[in-house]
Amino acid sequence: MAVSYKELGLVNTKEMFAKAVKGGYAIPAFNFNTMEQMQAIVMAAVETKSPVIMQVSKGARNYANATILRYMAQGAVEYAKELGCPNPQIVLHLDHGDSFELCKDCIDMGFSSVMIDGSSLPYEDNIALTKKVVDYAHQHDVTVEAELGVLAGVEDEVASEVSHYTKPEEVIDFATRTGCDSLAISIGTSHGAYKFKPEQCTRDPKTGKLVPPPLAFDVLHEIEKKLPGFPIVLHGSSSVPQDEVDTFNAYCGKLPDAVGIPEEQLREASKSAVCKINIDSDSRLAMTAAIRKYLAENPSHFDPRQYLKPARENMKKMYIHKIVNVLGSNDKL
Ligand SMILES: [Zn+2]
Repeated sequence: MAVSYKELGLVNTKEMFAKAVKGGYAIPAFNFNTMEQMQAIVMAAVETKSPVIMQVSKGARNYANATILRYMAQGAVEYAKELGCPNPQIVLHLDHGDSFELCKDCIDMGFSSVMIDGSSLPYEDNIALTKKVVDYAHQHDVTVEAELGVLAGVEDEVASEVSHYTKPEEVIDFATRTGCDSLAISIGTSHGAYKFKPEQCTRDPKTGKLVPPPLAFDVLHEIEKKLPGFPIVLHGSSSVPQDEVDTFNAYCGKLPDAVGIPEEQLREASKSAVCKINIDSDSRLAMTAAIRKYLAENPSHFDPRQYLKPARENMKKMYIHKIVNVLGSNDKL
């Protein structure tokens, strides 16, 4: 039986994005698959008084089960209230929806926002598919994110060898004809923990660490000029923090030369029309680095709560850092 997100206490992105664009900050969009990730996201959002987007990919739905995720989102709203936030602003969002049927299924199961990713299709086919999803979603007051341009990298089922920057000359036509509520663009961010190949980077002579190429802010500013005030989304925006990579590698992990998007650049993007920034890899890394460390230091422990607790703490710390120091969405409730 169909359920509306409104019955679950969730909100769509409309008002949230309008405020973020005006206020010069961005809403965090954190992916989740497990209860510990969900708890850490809610604790961080409540503690910082931040609106938050909890997003699930098709892979997360396959992993955790679609029904369970819907009740977890409902649980997130109630948990936020229990933690002392009377009016939490929580969005349940489908990340990288790849068909009308998947988007419809999510909308019917209580999602308040969906992404339809037709970015790999020819331009006219992307428009037709996006418009079909928008028509259905808007009947249910659900907001829709679309994508123009291709990001490099690997994220669950989404993979591309090369990136193609969004063409600013296409955005007015695309947004007008599809009626989408926000637009994910490609300006050099990338999916996964290996966002750039070493040959794309330079090496810091002092630390020997890889320095990635800068984001294409000229493309972003072109797009902003074409669509003033229109909500823009950045995917693949984990920073792959060096201290987490170091912990991970110190306890038998193997992530040499992993490289993300520098936080200063994301901070700068947050002040523009970019109002949603997707972070997934950093959460995976924070969780797994903490688990590796705990298990190595406590080889006799086998109760999952013992290692999942520090993992949850580490994710919460990372989420709070992003909200306060990178996106600036704190104290907005
Ligand atoms: Zn993505």
